[in-house]
Amino acid sequence: MKAFVMKRLNQVGFMEKPEPQPGPNDAVIKTTCALICTSDSHTVHGAIGERINLTLGHEAVGLVHRVGSEVKRFKPGDRVLVGAITPDWGDLASQAGHSSQSGAALGGWKFANVKDGVFADFFHVNQADANMALIPEAISDEAAVYCADMLSTGFMSAENAEIPIGGTVAVFALGPVGMMAVAGARLRGAGLVIGVDSVPKRQELARQYGADVVIDHSKNDPVQEIMRLTGEEGVDSAIEALGADETFQCAVRVAKPGGTISNAGYHGKGDFVHIPRLAWGVGMAEKTIRTGLCPGGRLRMERLLRLLESHRLDPTRMTTHRFNFDELDKAFEIMDKKLDGVIKPLITF
Ligand code: ZN
Repeated sequence: MKAFVMKRLNQVGFMEKPEPQPGPNDAVIKTTCALICTSDSHTVHGAIGERINLTLGHEAVGLVHRVGSEVKRFKPGDRVLVGAITPDWGDLASQAGHSSQSGAALGGWKFANVKDGVFADFFHVNQADANMALIPEAISDEAAVYCADMLSTGFMSAENAEIPIGGTVAVFALGPVGMMAVAGARLRGAGLVIGVDSVPKRQELARQYGADVVIDHSKNDPVQEIMRLTGEEGVDSAIEALGADETFQCAVRVAKPGGTISNAGYHGKGDFVHIPRLAWGVGMAEKTIRTGLCPGGRLRMERLLRLLESHRLDPTRMTTHRFNFDELDKAFEIMDKKLDGVIKPLITF
């Protein structure tokens, strides 16, 4: 089969690989639709170290091709969503409610990290009964594939942000995760949602997803603006959706005493992320910093699909580019270099 891989650091391309085989609890999926993620680009540039000929991609839907002898819920031909994070579920971290950390820190993240990802004709899913969900007929592949990571991660950041009903929220960076953090904040009952980004297309989309105000940080100091908009109080919840030291510091600065800083960003560079000492109340302002990795699992996927089924939001507005699988090299370059106003490139197989 054909696969799109990280050949070595900073190099990607196609190669032939053998079709994967399912173990007793596993499934093999025929890929129908996938999305490229900025994480794929971080990986290629060495954020998690070198990988040789590892298939990229972790956001996909497809048709069940084969199942192992112990798989109960799925059969060949089923149309399924697979979480970007596919925990093993039996370990202590999962039992403690931290399945994304199953086995080790970030251990639930297997695709394009410790095993081949989804940018291939077929891909392997461990613990299929727990890590896949049937896609309801009314939901298109294109909409469902956003649940694999973007909705799950964006909504996680809103869930972790402890948003009070009517509370104030700031979201730093309005890429697809930030956009879904905005939508999640609205769903969680925020009274004021402030987004921060300088790209006009993102600003416009974030407004459609529920941002009341969008601050262009290239024109105004976002910390000053957020303080002004909240009567110098700061926000209840500050969400970091970029993965940069500077935006993280801004999030700490604008969170009010007792507020929550929720990190969704993938900090792919540098040795440290800094906490501004005085804005942190010298360690005593009761500002909670919460972190998380995209939650996986069938329960999670089914809940996200239900939101699409009941038309709470339309994630396909984030699709800015479309490619066939054999054009993935071109699509990857556009995402990697953030060319042509890209938000999400959709790949069909
Ligand atoms: Zn992703």
